[in-house]
Amino acid sequence: MKRNLYEEDHELFREVASEFNVREVAPDYEQWDREHMMDRKVWTAAGEQGLLGLAVPEEFGGAEMPDYRFRAVLDEEFAKANHLAVGLAFHLHDDMVLPHILAYGTDEQKQRWLPDMVSGERVTSIAMTEPGAGSDLRGVRTKAVQDGGDWLISGQKTFIGNGISGDAALVLARTDGSSGRGSSDSFSLFMVDKGEGYTPGRQLDKMGLRASDTTELFFDKVRVPAENLIGGQGQGLRYAAEQLPQGRLAIAVASSAVARQAYDTAVAYTKERNAFGERVIDFQNTRFVLADVLAEVEATESYVDNAIRAFNEGQLDTASAARVKLFASERVKSITDRCLQLHGGYGYMLEYPIAQAFLAVRLLSIFGGTSEIMRDVVGRSIAGK
Ligand SMILES: Cc1cc2nc3c(=O)[nH]c(=O)nc-3n(C[C@H](O)[C@H](O)[C@H](O)COP(=O)(O)OP(=O)(O)OC[C@H]3O[C@@H](n4cnc5c(N)ncnc54)[C@H](O)[C@@H]3O)c2cc1C
Repeated sequence: MKRNLYEEDHELFREVASEFNVREVAPDYEQWDREHMMDRKVWTAAGEQGLLGLAVPEEFGGAEMPDYRFRAVLDEEFAKANHLAVGLAFHLHDDMVLPHILAYGTDEQKQRWLPDMVSGERVTSIAMTEPGAGSDLRGVRTKAVQDGGDWLISGQKTFIGNGISGDAALVLARTDGSSGRGSSDSFSLFMVDKGEGYTPGRQLDKMGLRASDTTELFFDKVRVPAENLIGGQGQGLRYAAEQLPQGRLAIAVASSAVARQAYDTAVAYTKERNAFGERVIDFQNTRFVLADVLAEVEATESYVDNAIRAFNEGQLDTASAARVKLFASERVKSITDRCLQLHGGYGYMLEYPIAQAFLAVRLLSIFGGTSEIMRDVVGRSIAGK
């Protein structure tokens, strides 16, 4: 079925994104994957091509294109090129950090940070998760205490993408001096520059998406000026909750894009590969598997496309975003598994894109809120809680 989500402008943007993948990513991606680190030049190259900070208003150096279809095109191109780790790194910067600054930052903060985020000279991380607090962010123990006009931040974060390669982190910290499980107004958000003193820990050894760096961050009385508090004190959890739909939509979009790519890859492979004197696609089993997969890919695309439209209209609420993330991220795991199976032993080899996709998508039902948390959010909305 033909999708009717995109218009001419999006297809022109797709060409730019595709060329970017060929020219700036493809030649080095394998090396980045081995080294667990992308070259920072990929960020400035993306900035030059206008691929970062799409939603940023022109007065702060952006293209002022909040239409989420452009971000979706970019994710589809990363999936097609099998450059999913670059997609993850950009997602953290653009879907997780940026919306908080746009929504709650002062004009002075926007002027200070956004132009460099758009140009790729300032790479950012989102630092919420801690060793003892992931799904339940009220357990965050990193604390910020006032000292003169500044804040002193102490604590530890983990699983932080762009944490080694990046320049700054949006940090969730406890600001009410409480201990134990905090309340909804116990936490605040700070933009903290690496130069202000936090220290990345070891490079975490992920099973997939290895070209993007993921690490722990350590804060030992890191002095942060009052001007780096985002929005109001005590509002951190509320802000994070308000911005969750975009982050979850992004994960649904990536899931859908990888599902489509896995299907296309499996069709191409089974047309080429022979066994028992026939092409693998000529076995009825193969066609049955591909029939199921295609129906699921199209259903996922339709659902995600609708969610993108709803987001553009300001209608994607928390429960709707949780449902679409739940559905798409669970579907893509099953789809990549079946497409990998059709590759036989080659599907198990990391040099084959389907093997890398299989490992990459395992993250999608974990980060940005696990599937269990998505079910909880959706279930509560059904029960009217
Ligand atoms: C590769 C990777 C990159 C990441 N990048 C970032 C990042 O850049 N920044 C950041 O801040 N975080 C990041 N994360 C963290 C991610 O968001 C968390 O791992 C995730 O939210 C789950 O938290 P947890 O790992 O502490 O699991 P836990 O919360 O300990 O959950 C363990 C299990 O318990 C289940 N569970 C928890 N609560 C409930 C409940 N109420 N009902 C039923 N089941 C429940 C979970 O679903 C899960 O199955 C990343 C994680 C990974 C793996």
